[in-house]
Amino acid sequence: MSGMAHDFVKNARVIIPERSPTNSMGYRYPIAEEYFGEDAKNQLDMLVKEGLMVREFYQRELGCPKCGSINLIVRFLCPKCGDTNIVKGEIIEHWTCGYVGAEDEFKEDKCPKCGKKLEKIDVDYGKLGPMYKCLSCGEVFHTPDDKLNCANCDYTFSKDEAEEVVLYAYRITPKLEEDLEATLYRKNYLIEKLSEMGFIVEPEENLYGRSELKHEFYIVASQGKGIFKVRIVIDLLSALHEVPADDVFLFYAKALDLGAYRIILVGIPKFSEEAKKLMNHHGIAYVETQTLQNSAEVTIRKLEEMTKATHVFREKQEM
Ligand SMILES: [Zn+2]
Ligand SMILES: [Zn+2]
Ligand SMILES: [Zn+2]
Repeated sequence: MSGMAHDFVKNARVIIPERSPTNSMGYRYPIAEEYFGEDAKNQLDMLVKEGLMVREFYQRELGCPKCGSINLIVRFLCPKCGDTNIVKGEIIEHWTCGYVGAEDEFKEDKCPKCGKKLEKIDVDYGKLGPMYKCLSCGEVFHTPDDKLNCANCDYTFSKDEAEEVVLYAYRITPKLEEDLEATLYRKNYLIEKLSEMGFIVEPEENLYGRSELKHEFYIVASQGKGIFKVRIVIDLLSALHEVPADDVFLFYAKALDLGAYRIILVGIPKFSEEAKKLMNHHGIAYVETQTLQNSAEVTIRKLEEMTKATHVFREKQEM
């Protein structure tokens, strides 16, 4: 899990979708977007795949068969010619000449076709009730065709063609929630110990490398000021069996970019032989621990060892 996903899951409990006419898909997950930007939905699905969140049914909507957007507009159309230029109103049939039209076409009760005056209802003309008339082809009808138009890609289609779009809510799994609390506890423990040792834990927004890229680390702590400032980067790398050298290398590149003075890597459950060679070669301190549970303790122990060694080193230099 990336740092971002970690923070997100930590703060999120239930994420529900919101209708949004400005979004191309017609809905969004605002809370998730704060963390993941526009890619929020994919990230949520990733978290589901990783077993960190569960997805549950929230709502069923009609969507565009072309682009999947639920930003749809309902359009009424003439069943004969398909035009949208239709009006609803009282429809009159002039039996004298057979003309059928909307009430307001019969200005001053005169038939627009034959010009004769309407005399008496149910004698020379009849009211057909509220109906529609197409101003394009003249067709009069009770029920217009309805079509859906996609506001995103402008595709027009019938209801039958519409795609079913299920909107999901996302919920953090209870197991994970417990884990996170423990994780937070462990991190706080580590921060506390670090400050007892005279380190200041740096806020995340400080973590820009020389490349001006922002990096994410588990903890970055520093001691001293200016040119005497030393930065220690601590991170946890986990793998199913062993943490490969590639992971260590990627981490090392980030830490160098940040200007790390010392690096401590915690491998869960262990590092590969290659990874160890790499770390020994580059002076990266590491510890291995079977589980995350005691990662904080082993890290602190390692750090204490290192600071003692550093003191010895400094004293030797001063002699
Ligand atoms: Zn028509
Ligand atoms: Zn007439
Ligand atoms: Zn569409």
